[in-house]
Amino acid sequence: MANVQIEELRKKLDEINDNLLDLINERAEIVQQIGRVKKTQGMNRFDPVRERKMLDMISEKNEGPFETSTLQHIFKEIFKASLELQEDDHRKALLVSRKRQPENTVFDINGETIGRSGTQTFIAGPCAVESYEQVAEVAKAVKKQGLKLLRGGAFKPRTSPYDFQGLGEEGLKILKKVADEYDLAVISEIVNPADIEKAVDYIDVIQIGARNMQNFELLKAAGSVDKPVLLKRGLSATIQEFINAAEYIVSRGNNRVILCERGIRTYEKATRNTLDITSVPILKQETHLPVFVDVTHSTGRRDLLLPAAKAGLAIGADGIMVEVHPDPAVALSDSAQQLDINQFNKFMDEIKNSGLYNKTDKTSPSTI
Ligand code: PEP
Ligand code: MN
Repeated sequence: MANVQIEELRKKLDEINDNLLDLINERAEIVQQIGRVKKTQGMNRFDPVRERKMLDMISEKNEGPFETSTLQHIFKEIFKASLELQEDDHRKALLVSRKRQPENTVFDINGETIGRSGTQTFIAGPCAVESYEQVAEVAKAVKKQGLKLLRGGAFKPRTSPYDFQGLGEEGLKILKKVADEYDLAVISEIVNPADIEKAVDYIDVIQIGARNMQNFELLKAAGSVDKPVLLKRGLSATIQEFINAAEYIVSRGNNRVILCERGIRTYEKATRNTLDITSVPILKQETHLPVFVDVTHSTGRRDLLLPAAKAGLAIGADGIMVEVHPDPAVALSDSAQQLDINQFNKFMDEIKNSGLYNKTDKTSPSTI
């Protein structure tokens, strides 16, 4: 008997749900009509006075059993959803978002395709440019491994003002000379918006470092030139902040942006930073930009470079960045985690044998 009664009542609930559904959608259609009229008249879509009136009406007419505050909360949600419906979804989506562009952003740097699914790129080179000989020795090894992108810092944003700050423009000149000699593309960090214009004469990819991820003037300057940009995730940046930083660059007209996960600061002390490995698939889902993993700065540990690189490739990264120095023990920066040439060769061989890297067949022997 009780079961029959419940069945009856549930039938009534189903009918009411049906009616509510129809009414909410009918209401949404009217809201859309109002939105169109407001648009033609250039009026603001959100009208707080009108919303206050509607909430007051609920308060006047409510006879329970729901509390007025509960009903106002429910209606507020309906108002909010309706307002969102009025806004053009497409216009609201960020330029870097997958909603805006479902296909991957793919571009070419020195014959290397970046961002195509199934193609992965390695960037290797010293933490800092120290001398022509030092960069050339690493470039030779990079070339021998069949890689096309060489890194090297000329402007070093160091935690202490007393640490080596980089060779500046002189460092960029060294990079350019080596790059030309070994037919490699070079990537180097620029820290000052005023240096961007000058830097494009020397380098092929502008790096924006973790400490500058929210240097908005620098992002705007990098967005205004015709050069690919590798943007590092900030030390304490959320994924959303990272995406917004990339939007700064793309919104200025430069859509050749690579996102680079380089670890974030957590309470964990076992590694220099905590490699947020799942940020890779999240960034791939949320944006159409290529995503790289910097294994050197994320781990700060030589013994973790290989497993971290494998993890990056396995989880879908488009590329890996790793630091290499002819003699890390005497490197002017990051001496604890740079690979020497032998270790680098072993590292690349292990990567190529791992089955995670697609380019085992494309290594070209050095011509130099
Ligand atoms: C770098 O790549 O040289 C560097 C300083 O890294 P980050 O900005 O990620 O600390
Ligand atoms: Mn470094």
